[in-house]
Amino acid sequence: MRHIAVIGSGPAGYYTAEACQKAFGENVRVDIIDRLPVPFGLIRTGVAPDHQSIKGVSRRYEAVALTDNVRFVGNVTIGQDVSIDELRGLYDAVVLATGAPHDRKLDIPGAALPGVVGSAAFVGWYNGHPDYADLAPPLHAPAVVIGNGNVALDVARILAKTREEFAGSDIVGHALTALQGAHIDTITLLGRRGPHQIAMTPKELGELGELERARPIVDPADLPPLDTDSLLDPGQRKSVTHLRNFALANGADKPVHIVFDFFAMPVAVEGEGKVERVVVERTALDGEGHANGTGERYEIPASLVVSCIGYRTPPIEGVPYDDRSGRFANEEGRVLPGLYAVGWARRGPTGTIGTNRPDGFAIADKIAADIGEGSGKQGRAGLDALLAGRGVEVVTFRDWQKIEAAEKAAAREGSPREKFTSIDALLAARNP
Ligand code: NAP
Repeated sequence: MRHIAVIGSGPAGYYTAEACQKAFGENVRVDIIDRLPVPFGLIRTGVAPDHQSIKGVSRRYEAVALTDNVRFVGNVTIGQDVSIDELRGLYDAVVLATGAPHDRKLDIPGAALPGVVGSAAFVGWYNGHPDYADLAPPLHAPAVVIGNGNVALDVARILAKTREEFAGSDIVGHALTALQGAHIDTITLLGRRGPHQIAMTPKELGELGELERARPIVDPADLPPLDTDSLLDPGQRKSVTHLRNFALANGADKPVHIVFDFFAMPVAVEGEGKVERVVVERTALDGEGHANGTGERYEIPASLVVSCIGYRTPPIEGVPYDDRSGRFANEEGRVLPGLYAVGWARRGPTGTIGTNRPDGFAIADKIAADIGEGSGKQGRAGLDALLAGRGVEVVTFRDWQKIEAAEKAAAREGSPREKFTSIDALLAARNP
């Protein structure tokens, strides 16, 4: 028997479990350990609440979770309830599937002012992550969103939508109420490079053109000559075509403007005790496509600044870490003997949810090559004994199903669920 512990129950974790099932059949036991008492990681607290079709992939993970040789072990924190070294002693393979839940730091003066929020916190707030339920972002004046990736798009779209446009979503009640009372008429998306360098994907970018009360605004002067679009890959070309259409500004104006400010690098956030404006420097691209400041500066008024400039994997004591890239140091997923990394914790925050599937299968192949038939370790029996001895209250997948039933029962009309947003409320929902 092979005993495998996967740390993190997001897409990378479940795809790894699925791959291990396929590789080893009945001869494997997989424990998926998570700090939260709920599974699915990024699917639950990262994917935008109005993108329910993407969230639907959790049903596939559920099928894996409900098999006999895979367990969910929720409410267990690595480094607090059990250490990596202890897990390595108990399991033939330990796989770090911890994602990249921390923001890449916005390293400019004023970034610590109240009103500057990282995307992990802002996305966590509207998605009901217990760590960010109390965020209360200021929503009464213009907002600036830093970054030109899909997370920046998610944030701009969520800020711009009407209550009606959230029908069918599972945005949490506290965020829906706050957004409904918001007075944001301008959302500026700051891109330090140009339209040809955006990291947004076309389907998501196209959604901005279909909002009820908000209109995307692109300055035609920022767009490169049309014939240069042929140099782009097909996806990027489609995205740039959306920007070109936005720049044509056909149709009636709308009360909320989502302004694409390209070649615009934030250099400071200023204000008396809170955010009042962002100081921006114009950029020009060098021959290698890097943005360099031109010295021309201007200010954008704002009460809220959301920094969407990428993520990092938090280090874990005793696990080799590459500080430059913000992920575990690894050789194609191998970190140390018996210790592996997968998904964003291995390769950084890139790609779609589905990119993690081949990642999970690749790591299962490596585990198969490394651990053979297994080496008689204790696996889950050993973990259970250790956690019971420490008084840790483990949440099982059956417990999660009760929590989920309670969330569904509490849903407002048309919404799939109303998430509990505190650990206490989640734990209490196991015992209706
Ligand atoms: P991302 O795609 O890497 O985009 C990060 C953006 O931040 C880039 O535009 C980057 O510009 C900019 N940036 C980085 N450092 C900066 C700085 N110091 N100042 C100003 N701008 C800075 O990251 P993401 O948006 O966080 O997305 C993470 C991953 O999740 C991506 O693979 C994304 O596609 C995926 N995702 C997908 C969806 C979806 O499919 N619906 C939704 C959300 C996220 P440069 O290019 O100049 O570095």
